Amino acid sequence: MIRNWTYLDEYERERGRILEIVDRVFSSGRLILGAEVANFEERFAAYCGVPHGVGVNSGTDALFLALKALGIGAGDEVVTVSNTAVPTIAAIRASGATPVFVDVEEDTFLMDAGDVERALTKRTKCILPVHLFGQAADMDRIKALADRHRLHVVEDCAQAAGALYQGHRVGGFGDIAAFSFYPTKLLGGYGDGGMVLTRDRARYERLKRLRFYGMNEPNYSSEEGYNSRLDEVQAALLNHKLASLDSAADRRRDRARLYSEGLASVGDLALPAVRSGRSHQFYVYTVRTKRRDRLMRYLEERGIETRIHYPVPIHLMTGYRFLGYGEGALPVTERLAREILALPLYPDLAPDDAQRVVSCVRSFFDGPPGGAA
Ligand SMILES: *Cc1c(COP(=O)(O)O)cnc(C)c1O
Repeated sequence: MIRNWTYLDEYERERGRILEIVDRVFSSGRLILGAEVANFEERFAAYCGVPHGVGVNSGTDALFLALKALGIGAGDEVVTVSNTAVPTIAAIRASGATPVFVDVEEDTFLMDAGDVERALTKRTKCILPVHLFGQAADMDRIKALADRHRLHVVEDCAQAAGALYQGHRVGGFGDIAAFSFYPTKLLGGYGDGGMVLTRDRARYERLKRLRFYGMNEPNYSSEEGYNSRLDEVQAALLNHKLASLDSAADRRRDRARLYSEGLASVGDLALPAVRSGRSHQFYVYTVRTKRRDRLMRYLEERGIETRIHYPVPIHLMTGYRFLGYGEGALPVTERLAREILALPLYPDLAPDDAQRVVSCVRSFFDGPPGGAA
């Protein structure tokens, strides 16, 4: 059985170390906004090459607070993609702003910078690219557009911690960047967590206020704020895991290479593209085929678990129909939803298991065109 990763794989191996860290924090007398959070903020921001980090409750909150700190809200439009996780859109809505969707590139699944200009209106305040599956979006073109039209840029880095774009890690390209430490993310905690990064000192101060009831000092709100804090225990665990983020990504890339080499020119299978000047963290390894549903069933029958990220584009979900997009509004996004399949990929995936996935996918396409099983 080759299944998807769960945190238990890690917990079983690292139980002693993890419980030691939990015990240290629980014995410290401080559970909220103490030295662990400050230390992790500093280390994670430094890792990303950005001066300031503010730990928050989740990746969704990180995006929401980023928009709030930039003064974006009701009546404003934020240009983003429908081909993302729902929280990207939930966060924009929570700020009061309206998401405006553009299509994606079919081989990288990332925001199509060439589609952004036609989406701009007088109300556009921000472009919000998502570094989906572990690869950075086309930040040069997106930043050039933003500069030309005087728009903010917020990076959704939830799936791409550590990914390089022209030698620099994601998180420093926009005005503010948002990260998630949800357990399954590249850097995952043992609960919810997130962080915002910024180069701007004043925005950093504002973000610290916004996560803490708008307070600079206890019991006095200098502006309307929220409660969105990263716990001490999560910060301590994340700090411990930060040390192995790069080596884990290397192992992901190694397994991805086995897939890409073993699956080159197989049937109508299209492999994920990696653009020059960018590294890919392979948070998700996604292939495309017109026979997706049959391939998925075929692999499942052979004990290989696959996933679809994402089966329904957000603009076609019942919960977001009110935004007014219909079928056909985003042709590439909609086609991808029918054709994409994520193969199992995580740092501990044994190379032999990756080879078995390759053999099974190949045998599916070698079989009768009806789809074998
Ligand atoms: C996970 C994720 C988020 C939200 O993070 P949470 O910590 O779950 O709130 C936002 N955007 C993308 C692209 C994600 O994958």
